[in-house]
Amino acid sequence: MINKLIAWIIPFLPEKFIWIFSKKYIAGKNFHDAVKIVKLLNAKGVLTTIDILGESLSNKQQAKKFQKKYIQTIEKSSENDLLTTFSLKPTMFDLLKDFEFCYQTIREIVINAVRHNFMIRIDMEDSQCTDLELELFEKLYREFPFNVGIVIQAYLKRSLSDLKTIQKFNIPNHPLNIRLCKGIYIESPDIAYKKKNEINTNFLRCLNFILAQNMFPAIATHDKKLIRNCLSLISKHKAKKDHYEFQMLYGVTPRLRDTIVNEGHTMRIYVPYGEKWFHYCTRRLKENPHIVCDIILGFLVRN
Ligand SMILES: Cc1cc2nc3c(=O)[nH]c(=O)nc-3n(C[C@H](O)[C@H](O)[C@H](O)COP(=O)(O)OP(=O)(O)OC[C@H]3O[C@@H](n4cnc5c(N)ncnc54)[C@H](O)[C@@H]3O)c2cc1C
Repeated sequence: MINKLIAWIIPFLPEKFIWIFSKKYIAGKNFHDAVKIVKLLNAKGVLTTIDILGESLSNKQQAKKFQKKYIQTIEKSSENDLLTTFSLKPTMFDLLKDFEFCYQTIREIVINAVRHNFMIRIDMEDSQCTDLELELFEKLYREFPFNVGIVIQAYLKRSLSDLKTIQKFNIPNHPLNIRLCKGIYIESPDIAYKKKNEINTNFLRCLNFILAQNMFPAIATHDKKLIRNCLSLISKHKAKKDHYEFQMLYGVTPRLRDTIVNEGHTMRIYVPYGEKWFHYCTRRLKENPHIVCDIILGFLVRN
């Protein structure tokens, strides 16, 4: 209740105030801010994935502006020798209203990524996007198998079956790259697991399948116990260190991140930047009020 109230109030608070606790989770407003953060992380042996903030646009002009921003970011990342990939949300490119436009717009970004030897990850959004985002991924993957990755959300009951479908495209010498996360959106209990233990069980079930099929899992979670269980699965499958990676969000549980890095596992940090940070923060908070507590705790207690 209190979380919901806080989430409701936040959009009415001054941006400067929200920025005080948002900046811990966002690299900054422009590319130079992102470069600084990525370089610091790269120097610590940590890889990154850069995300330009902005989603749910149905304005083609704006979508084209974001396409240009992604292409410029890719080019500048190459000039700066950043050890990074890129993540993007297809609703930024009008996914729900015009699939073909969205596909063509993202395809141009992927072509640029290919040119500079980078990978583009198609983020997974709410369940009205799942089929479309899987279709988008399939089309792009068939053309650029080495440069696109997808996300699977463990809270969706369909996820194992989706994995079985996409597994068919797997190229043995270059395994399909799948980010496995719990899922952030509010979904109906008809289609999604709601209890933490059910979500975690499905997470491990999906990871087991990914490892058994020799695909590449990018394990995206800050859940300490779940990470330990994932590591047990990894050793059960005897997966080599370059056959999986962990991923975390920028600013979240840095101590846990460092522990995993010090144990010798590959870690990639999701680094969002952009002018649309306020919308992103308030939208996330409204969608998922329980993270308000995490954010406030994170602000008060240094991880
Ligand atoms: C790299 C990455 C990419 C992602 N991409 C997607 C995607 O494409 N689609 C999608 O639906 N979801 C995505 N997510 C979000 C994910 O689905 C979860 O909602 C989120 O990571 C929280 O779940 P958790 O696994 O960390 O476990 P939880 O049990 O929710 O969290 C474990 C602990 O981590 C800390 N924590 C977690 N999240 C936060 C936060 N935001 N702020 C502060 N502390 C926090 C808290 O201490 C919490 O107790 C991504 C997550 C990561 C790490």
